[in-house]
Amino acid sequence: MEHTNEMKLIFDSRSSNEAFARVTVAAFMTSLNPTVEEVSDVKTAVSEAVTNAIIHGYEGEVKDICIRCRTEEKTLYLEIEDQGRGIADVEAAMEPLFTTKPELERSGMGFSFMEAFMDELEVVSEFGKGTTVKMKKIIGKGRKLWTTQSL
Ligand code: ATP
Ligand code: MG
Repeated sequence: MEHTNEMKLIFDSRSSNEAFARVTVAAFMTSLNPTVEEVSDVKTAVSEAVTNAIIHGYEGEVKDICIRCRTEEKTLYLEIEDQGRGIADVEAAMEPLFTTKPELERSGMGFSFMEAFMDELEVVSEFGKGTTVKMKKIIGKGRKLWTTQSL
């Protein structure tokens, strides 16, 4: 389809790769001409999802994290996947302040941030198999269009 662009990134689940992942997605989305704030929102969401895959999904083991990115017209679609331990109760896990790792000083706000900074969030997970976080953000929503009519 015209105006569609895709990329797939597979990297080791090391915390040192978290910055790499968010900067790569930020670079990929530049073709949508985002504002600084929109880029920052997406970077935060990617950070939270990747950190979750590293800490909760693989629990420190080094395995693959896969990010799929697609732009279609003005929309950015993101999927962040791990083949880690999975989530037994996704609905509960997505509640603000829910965390299974309070001892690591996690605050349980990761999914809430993803929800707040993106337009759509869906979490697909199977316990023992892995987790895929799917997100969508429309870029340039509030932007003013200068047409002859607005002059
Ligand atoms: P914070 O993100 O604020 O540091 P947190 O990671 O515990 O804390 P969330 O990101 O909202 O909070 O995640 C909530 C819970 O969902 C986690 O505590 C964990 O139990 C589960 N979870 C999230 N992502 C994954 C994943 N990729 N694999 C397995 N469990 C996950
Ligand atoms: Mg988290």
